[in-house]
Parts: sequence; C-alpha cells; structure tokens
Amino acid sequence: MITRRTLMAGLTAATTLAMLPRWAYAAAPAEGVDPALVTFIKGLPKTEYHVHLEGTLEAEMKFALAKRNGLNLPFADVAAMKASYQYHDLPSFLAIYYDGMKVLLREQDFYDLAYAYLAKAASQNVIYTEMFFDPQEHLKRGVAMEAVIMGITRARRDAEAKLGIRSQLILCFVRDLTAESAMAALDAALPFKQHLVGVGLDSDEAGHPPEKFAAHFAKARANGLHVTAHCDVDQVDTLKNIRTALVDLKVDRIDHGGNIVQSPELVAIAKQRGMYFTVCPTFSGTLRRGIAQPVDVVRSMLDAGLKVTISSDDPAYMASEYINEVLLRAVSRSKLTRADLAGIARNGFEAAWLPAADKTALLARLEAYLASVA
Ligand SMILES: [Zn+2]
Repeated sequence: MITRRTLMAGLTAATTLAMLPRWAYAAAPAEGVDPALVTFIKGLPKTEYHVHLEGTLEAEMKFALAKRNGLNLPFADVAAMKASYQYHDLPSFLAIYYDGMKVLLREQDFYDLAYAYLAKAASQNVIYTEMFFDPQEHLKRGVAMEAVIMGITRARRDAEAKLGIRSQLILCFVRDLTAESAMAALDAALPFKQHLVGVGLDSDEAGHPPEKFAAHFAKARANGLHVTAHCDVDQVDTLKNIRTALVDLKVDRIDHGGNIVQSPELVAIAKQRGMYFTVCPTFSGTLRRGIAQPVDVVRSMLDAGLKVTISSDDPAYMASEYINEVLLRAVSRSKLTRADLAGIARNGFEAAWLPAADKTALLARLEAYLASVA
C-alpha cells in the first residue's frame, strides 16, 4: 500500500516541499504495486516527451491566473471546475482543454505554467523533458508568439538553474485548425527558433491526416527542427495515418501510435527505423476499436519489440497524475517488470533530441542508478 507519505518521500533533494503547489499532494497513487517497485520508480532518473504544457494547467492555477488577469471563470471553486472535467473521447476532451487555457494571456502566465510543470517533474526525478505547446490557440486570443515562447523559455532557464531539470520545447500544430493558421504560427515562431527543438502535430485527427502538414514539416526541418506527430489510438484511418507519418513524412518520433501493433509490416518498418514512441497510458493505453478483446498498448508494443517511452500527456485533466503515478499504474495494467521499466527509461534518454555527448551523460546517470539498486 502506498501512502502519501511514501510518495512524497521520493521527492528529490533539489526541490523543497514548500515550493510545490497544493495539487502536488493530492494525486492518489495506484495501489497494490510491490513496494520495492514503487521505490525503484521514484528513484529512477526519467525523461518525459509527451506532455502538453497547457495540459498541466491545474485548476488552482487557472483560478489564480483568472484573478490576476481580471477574468471571471464559470465555476464556483476548484472542486466544481475539476468536476466539470468529464470527457469520453478526444473531441470532448479537447473542448475542455481549449476552454481551460483562456486564462493564459501574458508572458508571466506562460512562465508560471511552465515553471510549475518543471518543478513537479523535477520532484519526480524527471531530469530531462521535451514539452509541447499549442501556440495557435494563444495567437487566436491575441497573445504574441514572443510572450508565449519567451515566458516558457525563461521558466526553462530558471528551472534548470534552480532545480537541475533540463528541458526543450516542441511547437505543436493544432491539426483541426487550417493549414494556413499552422503555417502562420510557424512563421511567427521561426524568429525564436533557437528556443525550439522541434515541431509536432496534435488535437483532433479525424479528417486531418498528417499529410496536411507536409509543407510545415519540410519548412521546420529546413530550419533545423525535429518533427514528431500524434497518431492517436483507434482513430479512423489510423494505420494509414501511421504509415504516412512513418514512411512518407519520415517523422523522427510518433506520439501515441499504439495501433501500429495491428500491422506487422508497420512494426517492422518502425523497428528498422529505430522509431521511438511516446505512449501515454492514462488516455491512450487500450485499443478497443473493431476488435473482440481490448489490447493493452504498452504491453503489446513492448512485446512487439518497439521502443516505448511513457509520459503523462495532460496530467491536470487526468486526475493530476504525473509521471510517477502514471508509471505506477502502468506497472499494474501492463504487467511491467523492473527490467521493462529500466528499458523504458533507457529508451527515454536514447530518444532525446540532444547532442550525442549530452545523451551519453544523461544515460550515465541512469546506468549509475540502475547499478546502485541492482
Ligand atoms: Zn498528446
């Protein structure tokens, strides 16, 4: 049985409890996990590559930012707001997600958002992360690209200096907005490209296949940026879209992508390319569409020999469960062993969009930890 006390005992020395917001104490961890594995997960040096900064906007912070920005929220309190987080599919989730980010208006708001996530991640021993953000949604509200990127960038620098967590930033195109809107966002961001490591593709996949963004990806690549793309689970044309991303657009990474296990041919291509997948079991952990028995994504991808990493996706909207809680649940639902967890952590460092020497240094920290607990 995991208690709040044992969970909090895993916080790194770099972060004091006083620095953590109130929600950091609230997450209910999975029960029934071997206590030795709980300790192992907490101490494990980790990466995170599939986390939407706007999806880390906790209800408490929404109220604080609304007050600071003179906005009224249509909820009496935090509990009422959290109770409204009811969704049953990707579109119903996205409606809540986009509505929630309207309180983000000023550079300081983006700083506070990013710093809060980085502090939480550092407290769970994430030592390197590549974070998504959705600038089109902010540009629509009249926020300048500079305020968004520089607020986040300032938080990244402070978090690295104060908490020791290193991070980079991935600009995501909101695929259900127009291609022109996405290109305008990319053009607005390119003057700040030294603060970006890549571009991605998120939001509602239905009717918005990856080829819609071929020109955007090409321009991003020409500007030295990496490319990743969401292939959400159980979408219409999911295998077609995975093929397009993997084979035609040659993305550097795939976010989610669990349905690939239904195509031995695509699995073989992904393995041949050494493709990494950022899997978020909280939202996309099970395949159900058109099959008799549900398929566990993490287990089946690992069994297929694919390179899985695990992330928390939009934790503020997923019961405030961050990477440690997500991994603890994955142990139960995907029958993960200590060796599986070590392999997933190793994949994370090997997948980093960093110079080889930096990756080697981070991997050495992981291997030192694994040797210390062997
Ligand atoms: Zn996502």
